[in-house]
This record gives sequence, structure tokens and C-alpha cells, in this order.
Amino acid sequence: MFSRIRNWRRQRTARGYQVGADAWAAAESRLPFLDFLPPADRPRLRQLALEFLAEKEMTGAHGFHLTDEIRLGIALQACLPILNLGLDWYRGWVGVVVYPGDFVIPRELVDEAGVVHEFDDAVLGEAWEGGPVLLSWLDEPQQGDRINVVIHEFAHKLDMLDGSVDGMPPLHEGMSARAWREAFEGDYRDFRAYVDSGNDSWLDPYAAEHPSEFFAVNAEAFFETPLWLQEDFPAVYEQLKLFFRQDPAAGEASHSPRDGDAG
Ligand SMILES: [Zn+2]
Repeated sequence: MFSRIRNWRRQRTARGYQVGADAWAAAESRLPFLDFLPPADRPRLRQLALEFLAEKEMTGAHGFHLTDEIRLGIALQACLPILNLGLDWYRGWVGVVVYPGDFVIPRELVDEAGVVHEFDDAVLGEAWEGGPVLLSWLDEPQQGDRINVVIHEFAHKLDMLDGSVDGMPPLHEGMSARAWREAFEGDYRDFRAYVDSGNDSWLDPYAAEHPSEFFAVNAEAFFETPLWLQEDFPAVYEQLKLFFRQDPAAGEASHSPRDGDAG
């Protein structure tokens, strides 16, 4: 009910940020998939990115200095999934911690015998329920491997919004939970079987780890390689289109050539 005040405050704070054309250009040149956006949406995405930066606290870990280019690059990618949903979809937390490369999270696992195993897990990102998003910033854009850490972790944030990390975010009115499950569960099963049989895949095989990872990885693909996703997982694409209220495969940039892989 206070969202109008909140919006007004965000816009006022965002106006305090001065970003030069060079900084935008530098940040966007690393994100070629923004070409899938209808041109009129580009300024809206920039504005939302400024509001995101005004509202969230982005810090560098291990003394990592965050340049404008890095901050904008992360904000643009974080805001792409919520461009037509709004910043309230990232409510309830403020921190974005950026590491200069992959980082280690200490884990604890209790096995069937009740023995506690402690180990370090090297990760590229992690989203904590009600807490910060942790990201690694890779200096060279990861061309070719089609992994998008930022979209991946923020997709987890959307998934968590209803209190369960199960690969299904809160759906909009008019969407069907049954249609969502049918699309995702069927393709998840098929994809697991496909990967387990030793097949190569253009979709990050990490998607086969858990339904929540299947959702997060498909969200990456939806924005980065929408034509491939639409071709191989049409039902998933359709549900993501309804959820994100975007249709990147219909965009101008239907140029992404498919380099002959089977995935
Ligand atoms: Zn994940």
C-alpha cells in the first residue's frame, strides 16, 4: 500500500546518480544479450538499474574496488528479469556482495551416521533467503560458456520470495501453477536423463542438480539465448515469458547463430 511513496523515494534517490554515456556504454558492451530487448525498453532498464543502486548496498569483498562499470553491469543484469515486474520483487534485503572471482563458502554436512563433515565449497555466487546476494565478478566476459551468475542468483531471489526454494516463484494472477509444474517437471526430468547419459548440452548441466537450479539456469537462458530455449524447451519458455512478462525471442536480435550443437 506504500508502494507509491516507495517508488517516489526511489526515483528521487536515483536522480542523485550521475552516470555518463561512457559508463553506460562500457557496462552495456559486456552484455550483448541486451540486444534482445525492444529498443524502447533500454532507457527503462537504465532507470531501473539506477533505482536498484539507490536501494541496494553493493560492496566489494576482499578489498575489491567496484568501478561504475561493474556496479552498472551488475545492476543492469539484476534488473533485466524484473523490468516488467518492478523492484518490489527484490524486497526484504539490501546487500549485494561482489567478489573478485570465485569464492569459498564453508559448509557443514551431516551424513547418515550422524558424522559432521566440514568442507569448503568454491562457488561463483549464492543467494541467501532474506539476506544478501553474493556474486563473483569475472574480469573477462565468459564468452562461450553462457553462464550468467547475476541473472542466476537473482532468479533464486525471485524463487525464494514465497518462502520455498523449489523452482517456482510466486506466479501472477492468471498463471497456472499446474501448467508451470507440467512444463518444468517434465523438462527437468528429460534434461537430467539427457545429461546423465553423458550428452553435451548448450544449457548449463548444472540445471540438472535440483529443480531450483533448473529454474535459475533456464532464467539465464531465457535472457541470454532465448531462441535456443524456445526451440528446445518451448513449454518452459512459454511459462517464463508469462512470468517475466517479456518475450526476448521475439526481439529484433534474432541473429544469434546456433553453432551446430545438439543440446
Ligand atoms: Zn543456483
